[in-house]
Amino acid sequence: MTKIYPQLDIPETLAAGPGPGNTDPRVLERFAKTGVADHMQKDVLRGMIEAKEMLRELWGTENVYTYGVAGTGWSGLDCVLSMILPGDKVVVFPNGTFSGIDGLTIRMKASTREELAANPLDPKPASVTMVVTPHGQSVSGETVDKALAELKPMWAFMAHWETGSGRVNDLKGFNDACLKHGVMGIVDAVSSLGVADFSIDDYPGVVAWASCPQKGVLSLPLTYAPVSFTDKAINLVKKRGVYTYVHHPILEARHWGVIDGKDTPTPTYHRTHSCYAVAAFHEALRIILGYGRRRKASDYAYHEKALRQAVEAMGCDVTSNMTSLVVLNLPDKLKGKEKELVQGCRARGFGIWPTLSEPVQVRIGILNQLSPEQISEITSRFADAMLGMGAEFDKAKVMNGLKSYYAKAA
Ligand SMILES: *Cc1c(COP(=O)(O)O)cnc(C)c1O
Repeated sequence: MTKIYPQLDIPETLAAGPGPGNTDPRVLERFAKTGVADHMQKDVLRGMIEAKEMLRELWGTENVYTYGVAGTGWSGLDCVLSMILPGDKVVVFPNGTFSGIDGLTIRMKASTREELAANPLDPKPASVTMVVTPHGQSVSGETVDKALAELKPMWAFMAHWETGSGRVNDLKGFNDACLKHGVMGIVDAVSSLGVADFSIDDYPGVVAWASCPQKGVLSLPLTYAPVSFTDKAINLVKKRGVYTYVHHPILEARHWGVIDGKDTPTPTYHRTHSCYAVAAFHEALRIILGYGRRRKASDYAYHEKALRQAVEAMGCDVTSNMTSLVVLNLPDKLKGKEKELVQGCRARGFGIWPTLSEPVQVRIGILNQLSPEQISEITSRFADAMLGMGAEFDKAKVMNGLKSYYAKAA
């Protein structure tokens, strides 16, 4: 017997979490209106080459090995972290959920066979040290410098923006410490690319970067996780190899027209890329570059401040400093009800999130919600949810405060 379900309908929700962000209609249109064409058709290949070049522009880099890895953020991270081989000495600086998972990936890759077999799902290789900064705090350059001076590893790893706790980590401090101690840095830039204004070529101590399609790049309809490698990283891969075909830093680049360290107009097959994904990703990059990286970063900061002040006026305590996300503690009266509050919002199509690891907090994001109207909608729906659970504040006063913030700025 075959079971056929009814057609799958997924409603439109207000994506107001850490990610995915609200996809621009232009990206969806490119996705839906692209003709079927194979992965070696000339316009598909041209689109990949153009996307590669726009990605270098967005990320501020001349790294030739800058391209997209098909899939989600973890796909790009798997590609860059594949450079870490069993027994490599690594220091990881986690400060929340995502850098914690990065740490797990690194521990899996750095494990010897015996270390992996001893604890296959959560290995603890002797060559990897986790230097944990508590949730809600940023990784400081001092912490990195001290650990690298003492441990002298081959690799160091940090998230640029830790989305689990909403914290911006000290990229310059990390970079400087890597340079000072001769360590190769790897950075998870999943949450910062497309939101923050930074150029990776300003951080030569970092040899590899990975991001994702669904956050600042705003190209969810499953597209590409941007990655970028310096020549130093690629030379190491050339010399030592990695244990993957599909996420191989050198082989994967061939389809984007990067062969033998150089751009070429004639890419070669690596895997069957989707014409729809290429067109969507290409459009997403066009949108961000058209908006302008600097302007986008300042718009995020401006609207994050508006939302932050509004939730503070509701009695919440904000502990994050990312500009695409507000991570907050509820007022005392609602303590312990974070998950219930979030579930209630989600049931009504208002997609906010709790933290995914302890402590339990509420996360509200503003990816691609860069207008007073959109921030007001998020504020209003969050206020209703809080009031519905017994919070005590005057909603009209909160909404007026928001209005005057925008009026003052205008
Ligand atoms: C979202 C996120 C990831 C994972 O990305 P996916 O697209 O879910 O694979 C990794 N690292 C950070 C910092 C993130 O914010």
